[in-house]
Amino acid sequence: MYLFKKISGLRLFLESYRSKNRAIGFVPTMGALHEGHLSLIKQSLDSTQCTVGSIFVNPTQFNEAADLEKYPRTPAKDLAMLYKAGCHAVFMPSPEEVYPSGLDTSVAVDFGALAQPMEGRFRPGHFEGVAQVVKRLIDIVGPDKLFMGQKDYQQYLIVRHMAQALSLPTEVVMSPIVREKSGLAMSSRNERLGPENREKAAVLFRILQKTAQWMGQYPPREVERKALQELQQPGIEPEYFELVDGSSLQPIPDFESPGSIVACAALWIGGVRLIDNLILK
Ligand code: AMP
Repeated sequence: MYLFKKISGLRLFLESYRSKNRAIGFVPTMGALHEGHLSLIKQSLDSTQCTVGSIFVNPTQFNEAADLEKYPRTPAKDLAMLYKAGCHAVFMPSPEEVYPSGLDTSVAVDFGALAQPMEGRFRPGHFEGVAQVVKRLIDIVGPDKLFMGQKDYQQYLIVRHMAQALSLPTEVVMSPIVREKSGLAMSSRNERLGPENREKAAVLFRILQKTAQWMGQYPPREVERKALQELQQPGIEPEYFELVDGSSLQPIPDFESPGSIVACAALWIGGVRLIDNLILK
């Protein structure tokens, strides 16, 4: 496995694959890796000839300075995990390498209603930062396939929309959520939960699963109300729980209309913000 901190070295390395028409897969991450990240690496290894992972805690997607500061950083462990997984190259740039002064990295794409609900509502500016870093990293790596987790479902739709709007030659592939034994979706932020809160946080997945049962019994808004009510527990502060159309992210009017349905939720527990979702249909 090769480690690159500079764009020039990475590009040279990738050229040897590209010149032989070998497909390049790319998995962008913010580090503090876990099995969820590794599942994306494995998916890339299975369907491309060269897998590049990146580790970059992107400052422009954090809407709170304290969250950026507290974000876990475990580079040595991350590199060992990527090496063991069989990743071909890791890109670990400095902020100056990604955002050199004088380079306009803003992304002129209208995300419309996709960026407004849920994460867009509670984390203003977050998706502008995500689109900016993903576009910049795609420009640097030039992958044939980009692997994104269903865990950040809205982010996946935003990136897919951007790739289509800008006619990027990169296929955006969604990978299923990897969970801890308790059902809690794996997340770098879980490291900041103590053992007690980690256990307690599993309630989110249990309630997501319950909505699958409530679907047949109650209308969508009532299911959302019941879910939020059940999440109101000591030490837990739910932010949203929404049943949305899986393509438009708009609230579903009923369960019978065509199209996919995704239950998406966010909550705070012990000072940590967690998100999760379940594809219901
Ligand atoms: P992050 O390092 O949190 O920016 O995540 C990097 C990528 O890993 C994103 O595409 C996430 O959606 C994905 N990811 C994060 N957690 C999981 C998980 N539990 N299962 C699958 N993919 C995940």
